[in-house]
Amino acid sequence: MGFLRSIARSLLPIPCVLCGAECGQTQLCGPCDAELPRLAARRCAVCALPLSSGAVCGACLDRPPFYTRVAAPFSYRYPLDALIQAYKYGGRLAYARILGTALAAVATRDVDVIVPMPLAAGRLAERGFNQALEIARVVATATAIPLLPLACRKVVETPPQAALPWKARARNVRRAFVCDADLRGKRVAVVDDVLTTGATLNELARVLRKGGASAVAGWVVARTLPR
Ligand SMILES: [Zn+2]
Ligand SMILES: [Zn+2]
Repeated sequence: MGFLRSIARSLLPIPCVLCGAECGQTQLCGPCDAELPRLAARRCAVCALPLSSGAVCGACLDRPPFYTRVAAPFSYRYPLDALIQAYKYGGRLAYARILGTALAAVATRDVDVIVPMPLAAGRLAERGFNQALEIARVVATATAIPLLPLACRKVVETPPQAALPWKARARNVRRAFVCDADLRGKRVAVVDDVLTTGATLNELARVLRKGGASAVAGWVVARTLPR
């Protein structure tokens, strides 16, 4: 009976998560999908911030980060920010599929393994799930790239980055990560939901490179743009 009910449910149109319109099987209707804030095509090849000229921004040229490049479909603006907040804090776990599918569409294939950005144990217990891991599962399935869910751990409970001024963020995450997997010679993609200053990604990339990873890419659903 449960089986029949699930078949019946799978045939019903799904309401769009943003406007509620019935939109087939995709969770997001065409018009709402077109409204999502796509990241500008002209952007830094490393950090993905918008650029008016050149291929790499001044900041990345001056101080190259430990990650080689960032892939992101969206900028962190309305209505995508609302979608991510509902996913993370509102228990809308099903949104991982929308977010992960959009990320997989811009992900390059020159990667050997996918690693989710780890959450510290306390934060994980509080939230009940790692938002980066659930997105990474969708991306790994879509790209057929192996996922290493437990490769890295966050061993220091850091205050939320959002609460800190930009300059304090690098200090905040220093020595926060430990990687147990043997990633020597591997090209790693770190999956996360939002990239803001890049300080957290940079610190994890530093640890991965130190452990022997040959390259680290950041695959994030949304990039925060400076005001
Ligand atoms: Zn809609
Ligand atoms: Zn840059």
